[in-house]
Amino acid sequence: MTDRSNLGPGVGIIDKYRDYIPLAKDARAVSLAEGNTPLIPLERIARRLDNKVRLYAKFEGLNPTGSFKDRGMTVAVSHAASEGARAVVCASTGNTSAAAAAYAGRAGMDCFVLIPEGKIALGKLAQAMMHGAKVVQIRGNFDEGLDIVRQLPDHAPVTIVNSINPWRLHGQKTAAFEIIDVLGKAPDYQCMPVGNAGNITAYWKGYREYLPEPMHYALPKMVGYQAAGAAPLVHGHPVDSPETVATAIRIGKPATWDGAVNAAKDSEGWFSPQTDDAILKAQKMLAKCEGIFCEPASAISVAGVIEDVRNGRIAEGSDVVCIVTGHGLKDPDTAIAQSEQPETVDATMDSVSGAILAAMERA
Ligand SMILES: *Cc1c(COP(=O)(O)O)cnc(C)c1O
Repeated sequence: MTDRSNLGPGVGIIDKYRDYIPLAKDARAVSLAEGNTPLIPLERIARRLDNKVRLYAKFEGLNPTGSFKDRGMTVAVSHAASEGARAVVCASTGNTSAAAAAYAGRAGMDCFVLIPEGKIALGKLAQAMMHGAKVVQIRGNFDEGLDIVRQLPDHAPVTIVNSINPWRLHGQKTAAFEIIDVLGKAPDYQCMPVGNAGNITAYWKGYREYLPEPMHYALPKMVGYQAAGAAPLVHGHPVDSPETVATAIRIGKPATWDGAVNAAKDSEGWFSPQTDDAILKAQKMLAKCEGIFCEPASAISVAGVIEDVRNGRIAEGSDVVCIVTGHGLKDPDTAIAQSEQPETVDATMDSVSGAILAAMERA
């Protein structure tokens, strides 16, 4: 395996894995040095599962705009720039718009984003606005937004940077490369949230491209988790009005349906649902017990693994990687709503130490 650990400053996934990304040789990388995110052992959560598995989180929330979307966006925007595109457009539940806005800004392109009114986390909206995107809120959900975006190039000179753009998947598959580089092999199970289903498709592609051919047996089982109220791949048919607290996966009609189904089927993985309660509980557990603050959609990987280790679907003794797709700071409202609110006391030693001692007593 090539040592790709130290290629110099400003190096992102395109420079690091150029052999695997079919961009033109002279195409300049529009990069924010994305990727190279840590694979963090989840020892305290594993202990709660009686150490039946070795558990890791691939913390994609540490990408430059706070989600894995940066991996796909650096490639999609670099390709668009190499073709002379002036503007990019996407429908988004939030993170795609944040990444598109940042990379388009860096490339000197205009960015237009369609978001579902009232259903986007505050941090993501702030990002798209700060990076200079023109934000259009639609009275409709993500699926309706994407249907409009698909037709937009017929009406305006814009390049689509949703994950239906195949360059996105070329970028996102590099996360699988990094996992193999760190573990020295693929995990036994890779567990992740699934919304529009580009990412699970990209990872599966990545694992197959990066592992040498004769080692096919070592591919991971791909496990996709969906929110119970937005679980089209679990049910096997689209969902008309998807609902979940995990807004990043509030999607009823995944665009890369076949890619996701094939990933699960060919790898002997599966899709299963998690309730919003289980998602929020896992989000809190990751933050409190492991120091990893992710957004609700990302926590579904851990919620699902807890269930599937307990019910035996994930085999004992396995290496399990949870993809933690986005940072918790993206969605402060949901975090604050489920937390104990701060206690206000007088600015005296007695009041402060009293509050601390009372809290220690309660714990
Ligand atoms: C986009 C996104 C997902 C879902 O990924 P898909 O490729 O749409 O399946 C999950 N979590 C977060 C934080 C996201 O931004």
